[in-house]
Order: sequence, then C-alpha cells, then structure tokens
Amino acid sequence: MPLSSATPATHSFVFIGERLWLDFVNTDDLQRGLRTDGLRDFHALLRWLEAASVLDAERAAGIRRRALQQPAGATAALADARRVRAALRALAERGVAGHDVRQHAVSEINRVLGRSAGTRRLEGRGDGSFVRSFVPEGDAFAGLMIPVVESAADALVLGELSRVRRCADQRCPRVFFDGTKNGRRRWCDMSACGNRAKAARHRRKVSDPRLVASR
Ligand SMILES: [Zn+2]
Repeated sequence: MPLSSATPATHSFVFIGERLWLDFVNTDDLQRGLRTDGLRDFHALLRWLEAASVLDAERAAGIRRRALQQPAGATAALADARRVRAALRALAERGVAGHDVRQHAVSEINRVLGRSAGTRRLEGRGDGSFVRSFVPEGDAFAGLMIPVVESAADALVLGELSRVRRCADQRCPRVFFDGTKNGRRRWCDMSACGNRAKAARHRRKVSDPRLVASR
C-alpha cells in the first residue's frame, strides 16, 4: 500500500470495500471507537487518491502545488468530494431500497461526469489488478472524483447494489461489496469487527452457562 510517511498516524485508510466507491465512502470511518473523517483536508484527499492508485505521485505533486496557489479551489474541491461521498454513502446503505437516494446519487454522478473534460486511462497495478485513472484538461481539481463516481456508476450499471452491505457490527459504518459465492460476507474485516463479535459471543457463553446448555 503506497501510504507515505506523510500520512498522519491519527488516520489510516482502509481498503476493504472491494470497490473503489465503497472504499471512498469508508474514508468516513470509525477508528479506535471515534468517528473520524479521513478527508480532513484537501491534502488528505490527495493522499487517499494516491493510496487508492487512481492518482500517481507526479500528478499529485502538481495538484499539491496548484492547491498552494489556489487554496479556495482546493477547499471547494474538498467540499465537493465530501458532498459526493455523502450521496454515495446513502446509495451504499439504502441503494436497492431507496428510490430517491438512488436518483440523488445518479444526479451527483452525472454532475461530476458532466463538468470534467480530460483523458481516461486504464492502468495496471502492481498486484495484477487494474484501475481507471483520469487526467483532466483545464481545471486540475475538477476531475479528481471521476474514478470514484465511475466506480459507483459501474455498480448501478452492473446491478451490484444488492451485494453492497454495511458491516454487521452496528457501530461500524464501513460498507463493502459482498463478493462471496453464497453472499454471506458480514464483516468489514474479519480480524477486527468479526473477531470482536466472536469474542463477545464467547464472553456471553462463559458468563451465562444456560447459553452453553442451549447450544
Ligand atoms: Zn466493521
């Protein structure tokens, strides 16, 4: 994972969603029991895009320079990214069930797609997977959300929403695509929420012997 040492220790990005748009939604996360926003400033947004391999280091450096010259543009781009994220979270959580939520997400996706001219590219990653990237023409900030909204658009086109889930731990806000054969993925991360649930079940059994007898 190309997380640079500049990434603050207070927040680490998680890539457990199996879809780019869901990983983006998961930047609004719960870490060590606290709701934390992984997109706390524009530079964090760039770090996430780099970590997700949709922005290469050279372009990111160019955009960072531009952000110093045009702080208002960078602030607006961050606000826009959060706005897109809110629409995509609603889509992830209510997608199949919520007609209005779906319509709103579609108009947000089209808003982003409609205003950005540039070159789309397909790029291979080190692990053998592929990712779309987008090199904008003109406004450097405008195209940043393109790969994310295209990923959400794919989910709608492919009819994947019924396989999008929120973690079975009710306190955990993470969403993911359930790619298992039988559609039974329940946890964002077996080693975190899954294990916590297992341990809690075990504690209940130990403290209440009737539960053991009933199994
Ligand atoms: Zn979880």
